Amino acid sequence: MKLTICGTRGSIPVFGKEYEKYGGSTSCYLIETSSMALIVDAGTGIINVKGLSQQNIPILITHSHIDHLIGLMSFEGLKDAHKNIDIYLAKREGLSPKKQIEKLISNPLWPCRIDDYPAKVAINELKVSGKELVFGDIKVFSMEADHPGGSTIYRLESGNKKIVLVTDHEHRDEQKTKELVSFAKEADLILYDAQYTQEEYERHKGYGHSTPEAGIKLKEMAEAKKLVFIHYLPAHTDSFIKDQEESIKKQYSESKDISFGYEGEVITL
Ligand SMILES: [Zn+2]
Ligand SMILES: [Zn+2]
Repeated sequence: MKLTICGTRGSIPVFGKEYEKYGGSTSCYLIETSSMALIVDAGTGIINVKGLSQQNIPILITHSHIDHLIGLMSFEGLKDAHKNIDIYLAKREGLSPKKQIEKLISNPLWPCRIDDYPAKVAINELKVSGKELVFGDIKVFSMEADHPGGSTIYRLESGNKKIVLVTDHEHRDEQKTKELVSFAKEADLILYDAQYTQEEYERHKGYGHSTPEAGIKLKEMAEAKKLVFIHYLPAHTDSFIKDQEESIKKQYSESKDISFGYEGEVITL
């Protein structure tokens, strides 16, 4: 299994010299096996996903906050009449997946609708925590995150490898943490929401985001092999994140298996 981080940023894209290392594009991840490719989230990072050869491309959306959806209308695959784009998203705030996407991709916010693109698009309702989805040799499991309006945590399995993608999740609820520990048990890789420092988190409780320290706790409890942080606050520049990385190296003995993900990073399991 190969995972490419196509966008690490949360809330809103950023650009410029201060963001060259970790990147400014918002949430998007490409997961590939030898026969299959699947995308999680359609933030501006999806613009980096190019040249997929397969005809059917599944896109799993965690939730429709704008940083997870705003790149969708610029996705290369939508402009190709030979592609089938299969979008999965849970019903949120009483809105069907299609309605959520149409809120963004329709007048007056955008000049056309998702159905107007050349590709054949199917929008499917994801039942969170329901039966697993199967895409070729990738199995997808889901659980509900703790996030305003809801968000989906995904576990992707192929062969004997497991990736758990925890973005837009707050770690405050003990019961939810227990559930997440068993969901992520012995994962080969956990990607984890590192939007806030501990000090920032104290001022943003209830915003639905987490900290590197909570990610490390999860890694330890779930006995996961590798932990990579994602979903950075726009204010966290390269030098800010490098300092965070340094301080984690000093504090944790297992820090070689912990890192801050960057845009364009490829992780092979
Ligand atoms: Zn987000
Ligand atoms: Zn969100």
